[in-house]
Amino acid sequence: MDLMGLQLLLPLKLSHHLEEVFMVLSRREFTRLASVGVASQLLPKLHAQPSSDRTIGYAMVGLGRISMGHFMPGLRDAKQSKLTGLVSGHRDKAEKNAAEYGVPAAAIYSYENFDTIRDNKAIDAVYIALPNSMHAEYTIRAAKAGKHVLCEKPMATSVDDCKAMIDACRSANVKLMIAYRCQLEPTNLRAIQLIRDGSLGTVQAIESANGFNIGADWRLNKKLAGGGPLMDMGVYSLNATRYLTGEEPQILSASSSVIDKDGRFDTVEENVGWTMRFPSGIVASCNTTYGAGMDGYYRVHGSKGAMTVETAFAYQGQRLLAQFRGGQKLDEPNPAKDPSQFTRQADYFAGCVLNNTEPKMDGQEGLRDIQYVAEIYKSCGIAF
Ligand code: NAD
Repeated sequence: MDLMGLQLLLPLKLSHHLEEVFMVLSRREFTRLASVGVASQLLPKLHAQPSSDRTIGYAMVGLGRISMGHFMPGLRDAKQSKLTGLVSGHRDKAEKNAAEYGVPAAAIYSYENFDTIRDNKAIDAVYIALPNSMHAEYTIRAAKAGKHVLCEKPMATSVDDCKAMIDACRSANVKLMIAYRCQLEPTNLRAIQLIRDGSLGTVQAIESANGFNIGADWRLNKKLAGGGPLMDMGVYSLNATRYLTGEEPQILSASSSVIDKDGRFDTVEENVGWTMRFPSGIVASCNTTYGAGMDGYYRVHGSKGAMTVETAFAYQGQRLLAQFRGGQKLDEPNPAKDPSQFTRQADYFAGCVLNNTEPKMDGQEGLRDIQYVAEIYKSCGIAF
């Protein structure tokens, strides 16, 4: 059934909402989700979609891989979001990007004069793409400047910093969202739907892993990163077990190791494995590493079937495979290309700002993950 077919079946108001969903998802994605019933699950989120043709101006804070390679290219296709400012320690890099994206030179800021973004009315929000330990400072400074904050994951390098970020945004009456793009990604939404609608039966267990073999990077400096692969990659698996189950873990236990004594892991761990038990009794086991290629995935075992999402956390290439007790199978590759996840994320947060609604990936969501990260590190005997 296509969008028109769906609209025929719905009351006028709901039909209008569907058009709004359609603006965020591609036609192909929406049709696929509609056919499996996910579209109806998306409807409550529509309050987060823009109701006007206004756009939200974003200033990039940090011009690195994620901002220059993904978020900024994603803004080119956005409907409610545009690039209106750049914050960088490298003026030449900022000028080059400003010329490419049509940002006026007056909207280029340094980390020192960052607070003067308060006077730039074209900047509604900031996207914070700095090393993890800098997220708190720049979120708080942005909030004090009256700007909404979309902050990269992991939210911060301590529970106290997360709480201070939430407080600062609340006091300034600005929105705070953590960039958990997978919570908006269609294949991940489809996986959630197959669990919620009972297709997999009673979920018993989940496995997940995510990691890579790291070279020189600030991610190996505990002062900047807060920790090793758990902070950077493991947090995807941790967050996924929570959105898949819809529950908060009750019991966590973990262990960590360093195998490669080559200097990379002098301040952060190389491997972490952890297990969790959720209130329903679902058990989950997760691994993360900076010592080997480890394509992110999760596998969910239910009484009526099992489901794997491959490349679950990457910028593209998601694929859902399921096998049910009756023998039926699903094999659903997602053809969407990078940077579509970033376009969707920017427009989703723009919708929250324009309609004054809370993002589902709010500060509390980021804080919870950091609280569990703290428990995992404690279980490993690692100071956090
Ligand atoms: P990066 O190293 O490519 O970029 C970091 C930026 O911060 C650079 O512009 C750098 O100049 C600037 N910076 C300012 N002070 C710095 C300092 N003291 N040391 C190092 N850099 C400094 O990093 P990245 O991969 O773009 O990651 C940035 C943030 O985005 C991290 O929090 C990371 O976890 C997150 N991230 C998220 C995703 C995602 O898919 N959501 C993917 C990658 C990274």
